[in-house]
Amino acid sequence: MSVETQKETLGFQTEVKQLLHLMIHSLYSNKEIFLRELISNASDAADKLRFEALAKPDLLEGGDPLKIRVSFNKDANTVTLEDNGIGMSREDAITHLGTIAKSGTADFMKHLSGDQKKDSHLIGQFGVGFYSAFIVADRVDVFTRRAGLPASEGVHWESHGEGEFSVASIDKPERGTRIVLHLKSGETEFADGWRLRNIIKKYSDHIALPIELPKEQHGEETPTEVEWETVNRASALWTRPRAEVKDEEYQEFYKHVAHDFENPLSWSHNKVEGKLEYTSLLYVPGRAPFDLYQREAPHGLKLYVQRVFIMDQADEFLPLYLRFVKGVVDSNDLSLNISREILQKDPVIDSMKSALTKRALDMLEKLAKNDPEQYKGFWKNFGQVIKEGPAEDFANKEKIAGLLRFASTSDDSGEQSVALTDYLGRVKDGQDKIYYLTGESYAQVKNSPHLEVFRKKGIEVLLLTDRIDEWLMSYLTEFDGKHFVDVARGDLDLGKLDSEEDKKIQEEAAKAKEGLVERLKTALGSQVSEVRVSHRLTDSPAILAIGEQDLGLQMRQILEASGQQVPDSKPIFEFNPAHPLIEKLDAEQSEERFGDLSHILFDQAALAAGDSLKDPAAYVRRLNKLLVELSA
Ligand code: ADP
Ligand code: MG
Repeated sequence: MSVETQKETLGFQTEVKQLLHLMIHSLYSNKEIFLRELISNASDAADKLRFEALAKPDLLEGGDPLKIRVSFNKDANTVTLEDNGIGMSREDAITHLGTIAKSGTADFMKHLSGDQKKDSHLIGQFGVGFYSAFIVADRVDVFTRRAGLPASEGVHWESHGEGEFSVASIDKPERGTRIVLHLKSGETEFADGWRLRNIIKKYSDHIALPIELPKEQHGEETPTEVEWETVNRASALWTRPRAEVKDEEYQEFYKHVAHDFENPLSWSHNKVEGKLEYTSLLYVPGRAPFDLYQREAPHGLKLYVQRVFIMDQADEFLPLYLRFVKGVVDSNDLSLNISREILQKDPVIDSMKSALTKRALDMLEKLAKNDPEQYKGFWKNFGQVIKEGPAEDFANKEKIAGLLRFASTSDDSGEQSVALTDYLGRVKDGQDKIYYLTGESYAQVKNSPHLEVFRKKGIEVLLLTDRIDEWLMSYLTEFDGKHFVDVARGDLDLGKLDSEEDKKIQEEAAKAKEGLVERLKTALGSQVSEVRVSHRLTDSPAILAIGEQDLGLQMRQILEASGQQVPDSKPIFEFNPAHPLIEKLDAEQSEERFGDLSHILFDQAALAAGDSLKDPAAYVRRLNKLLVELSA
């Protein structure tokens, strides 16, 4: 080995130390994946070199075919991987092999509980990557040189996987990276040709580069020169016909492109020919990445042009609400020297985007139809993101609406499991609306007085309690020709669901209580925009309805929390003419007692709606006064 100079020892970033610790202790049952991770990196390195060489052909340094070689030494107990990809400079090695670059990593690591069983689930969200080498090795040597740098700028990175690593300058004539794993004493099984071959076939068959192993030697003679043999299929997976690709191959390929540790939920592989020619392979991940709600976090597809890797995380091909979709798109129409800037303006991209969006939505539709259990899991992970859809993607509104799942009065579990088509399948005769109620929590909306009349008539109401729901519903006006109606809003008109008889009773009650309405208006004054007789109630004395055009409670709270001025809107006070308390109120002679009681009813209605009281002390005072009188 050549002389080392400028050696320095550095500490790993704290998060790396945590990750290393976690990995070594949680992945012991699946040790062999280290090879998949290192091969995946070597393949990425070849992709990057091929791409940079489009502009700088010199980088290829003569043009040996790109490949990965895996070898082993039983006596030394080592496994070695060598690639002739892009390689790393000293700076690259320090940053890429000493830190975790993903944004939000530090935050994420804070969630580690110290409970290994729980934490090992978290690791999947990172993808395990390079550090997985330390699952099987207690020392890792990386010899690398970045393409384009002189031989003298080679680097030797070394670590025992504890707190530190060292880097030194070496001479490295061949471009690329060689990684030597010094296996732990218990891991000698990996220094074995048969074992390595099997692992490569199992996890890395889809890698488009040849992966070579030394050919098994038969007979006594020790050969002077190693003969290499390609052990993987070595063709880009997405270029193969669908029928020839096994599920396991799709799954392993997913782990490579998505840097994920677990299997995807589903995928969709399509070749498009005609005016535009491209192949796409889209995946739905099994679970949400930790940075799903950081809308600026990098996301998107891996872009290839005529098989050549162009860029990672090209986010122009799918809308933001599908940012969890992973995969590859390989175009024959785009130019090889396309840049991110051009990508944003290219009309070809627009038509690809709308086609890929449809594909992704179709894939989800299919998943929902064929595997409702899996779709439930999908919805738990990504439902909130899908709910951004109707606002972002007008053209696919109906399709997106079909993917939504809601909690509902038809199901006591409180789970979001009811599709709009389920709801429509259960509507009452004469029902031409889809009813819903939004609120803070399932417990609150489930018991809301707004539902009383619906319970009585057996009409299903969707219960929406995610923060985004009210905003979502401001974009969803109808589904399958039926309008959405917020049951807490405006003057509830049940249309044909009310019988002639019902209507007559309502009219009579309104007439009979005209006087009470006027008295209440005076008592409640500026707190309400209107007072009227309700036909939403069976058990509760009173309720607050939101004006047709007013912001709902949820939106108001979100806006207030973000420090925005919210227009002051007053609720409509509706009372139940048949309720004994209201009858008492109507008969009350003392104006003082009438005032107290109406305010109490108003405040109670606000509480039932999940709102907070403007003057809670006054409420308590009035209520106590009444209680004292009652017991006197
Ligand atoms: P990821 O592959 O998700 O980026 P890894 O932990 O697997 O994370 O690798 C970290 C980084 O180290 C890579 O992004 C790459 O920059 C660098 N790297 C790892 N292996 C190689 C290699 N064989 N050749 C060049 N760079 C590499
Ligand atoms: Mg990797």
